[in-house]
Amino acid sequence: MSELTRDQFDEVMVPNYAPGKIIPVKGEGSRVWDQDGREYIDFAAGIAVTALGHAHPALVGALKEQGEKLWHLSNVMTNEPALALAKKLTEVTFADKVFFCNSGAEANEAALKLARRHAFLKAGEQKHEIISTYGSFHGRTLFTVSAGGQAKYKEGFEPTPGGISHVPYNDLEALKAQISANTAAVIVEPIQGEGGVTPAEKAFLEGARKLCDENDALLIFDEVQTGVGRTGYMYAHEYYGVTPDVLTTAKALGGGFPIGAMLCTDAVAPSLSFGTHGSTYGGNPLACAVGLAVLNEITKPGVLEGARAKGEKFRAGLDAINAKYGIFKEVRGLGLLIGIELVEEWHGRAKDILAAALENGLLTLVAGPNVLRFAPSLIIPDADIDAGLALLDEAIAKVVAG
Ligand SMILES: *Cc1c(COP(=O)(O)O)cnc(C)c1O
Repeated sequence: MSELTRDQFDEVMVPNYAPGKIIPVKGEGSRVWDQDGREYIDFAAGIAVTALGHAHPALVGALKEQGEKLWHLSNVMTNEPALALAKKLTEVTFADKVFFCNSGAEANEAALKLARRHAFLKAGEQKHEIISTYGSFHGRTLFTVSAGGQAKYKEGFEPTPGGISHVPYNDLEALKAQISANTAAVIVEPIQGEGGVTPAEKAFLEGARKLCDENDALLIFDEVQTGVGRTGYMYAHEYYGVTPDVLTTAKALGGGFPIGAMLCTDAVAPSLSFGTHGSTYGGNPLACAVGLAVLNEITKPGVLEGARAKGEKFRAGLDAINAKYGIFKEVRGLGLLIGIELVEEWHGRAKDILAAALENGLLTLVAGPNVLRFAPSLIIPDADIDAGLALLDEAIAKVVAG
């Protein structure tokens, strides 16, 4: 297999990605190995996806078992893994009903379509407006780039769906000024992930809930990145004590197997009536069998508490590193979704630290030009946290030395 090289990427792939130089071929827990057998510590988890690390025995077992039974039926029939996962999701969340799809963007697409249709059925076509926040990220379909609050993802793809406006994140007064009887939904990430790991203020989410109720609009929480234990809570909105009407989840839900879901209450589910929406692969038995194994692991006693404790350990380690170099302006986030904003003089250089860390054997992420981001496995061993932070320390020393 090793005749396959990074250079071939440019020959055979559309250039919308710029992958790193190494090609990982194997993973176990929070460690990954490349084609040359070089070992890396993983603080990235495939962008907050492999929340139980690589090759977790329970997930591998679930995939193998289902793989030998039944792969696919389509939604002309239901299947046992989909029913079991939907039941589990409704047990561990506020939601009464579940729609399965294959990605975060598809979950948001379903949520936005549900909101439009729900408003249409209740109040007619003029109640179609969607309010989102600047800096948000909701996926790459036309509807979701339009809902997203970053203009760069829309450039050159217009016309994109209309009827969508944006207010500054955490600006309740702006939301109050924008919302009206014509608002179908407000969509918010409880913590903006791609936009820089920016947590919502509690008052903003509480205020959004109240304004949605007053205006008969749905509150949608995009928990594609913050969900499934990432923050030390099953879903981040539980930390805030604010409950949405609709929630979207993907990334960690499959632990690396593609799956997404839109969760909602009984009050709104009927609006997505027979024939109004669908997905060939949504509810696929393989994906749902793995998703159920993920939830069974994450709901085991101590896992969420462990993620919170590991988050504290990261913070202590990062404080110690910053005491040496003074390049972190702020460490923020919740649980194991960690954003490290660099001081002004270092703005634009998060990618330099990422590159130096990779060179040193540590996989990290960025969230925009100024924020280094970690989203490791929720069960990363403490020894791997220590070893990874030591590699980060060395990498920063190299970047500082120039
Ligand atoms: C990653 C992400 C998405 C998009 O998910 P895909 O699976 O890439 O479509 C949507 N919303 C948020 C908050 C995300 O972090």
